[in-house]
Amino acid sequence: MLPPKSWSFSKHSDFETCKKMFFLKHVDRIPEPERPLPPGKSEQANDRGTRVHTSCELFVNGTEDVLCPEADKFFGWQLELMRLQHAEGLVSLEGEWGMSKDWEIADWKTAWLRLKLDSLVFHSSTEATVIDYKTGKKFGNEVKHSQQLILYILTSFLRYPQLERVTGELWYLDQNEVTRQTMTRDQALRFKKNWDMKGNAITSCVDFPANPSVFTCKWCAYGTHAASHYAAAGTGHCLVGVRK
Ligand code: SF4
Repeated sequence: MLPPKSWSFSKHSDFETCKKMFFLKHVDRIPEPERPLPPGKSEQANDRGTRVHTSCELFVNGTEDVLCPEADKFFGWQLELMRLQHAEGLVSLEGEWGMSKDWEIADWKTAWLRLKLDSLVFHSSTEATVIDYKTGKKFGNEVKHSQQLILYILTSFLRYPQLERVTGELWYLDQNEVTRQTMTRDQALRFKKNWDMKGNAITSCVDFPANPSVFTCKWCAYGTHAASHYAAAGTGHCLVGVRK
């Protein structure tokens, strides 16, 4: 079996949760069962997230003049400001960042690391803020999101050698909350070795054992049980999943 060629932050999260789930989802690419609509909702959370992200992007780049209500509610004025900054050439909306195994800029299609980010705002030639919009809840995701922020900050420094100071921000659009972390280049580069090890662990892996537990199996689509957000049982590709 050949190891995976690339990784991303979400793949890293799945890999840490359960390697078998990672394998079924990202290597075998087994489709997940369709999810029932949440009670009282008219669209899936993923579809909603995509719609809100697209609205923000089209508003900031000037294609659309009206934001979707979800983004407008708490972050309308920040996005309006970003739109003005974008018109002045201070915002990059180049959302697909590819990096090679040597942490050099690479083509997205063949990249070792692939990151999708929402915007990078340049305050000066040496200072920038990298921003990721979040729909859904912050509670319970704090550790994961903090790791993501560090990877975004590190990659910003590696892609833009002139930067000396980078702030990472997660905008929780539904909750009017921002998680923020600022680093100098030296501080961020201390995390490179760790992320290098994590990326190499994924892209050299040829054995994907299951890691069953109440917590890891809770959201997995591949067990025989009904995971939290699926009405029916999972696909049954994993027979050792833990039921609630
Ligand atoms: S059901 Fe549990 S053990 Fe099986 S693949 Fe999913 S997370 Fe892993």
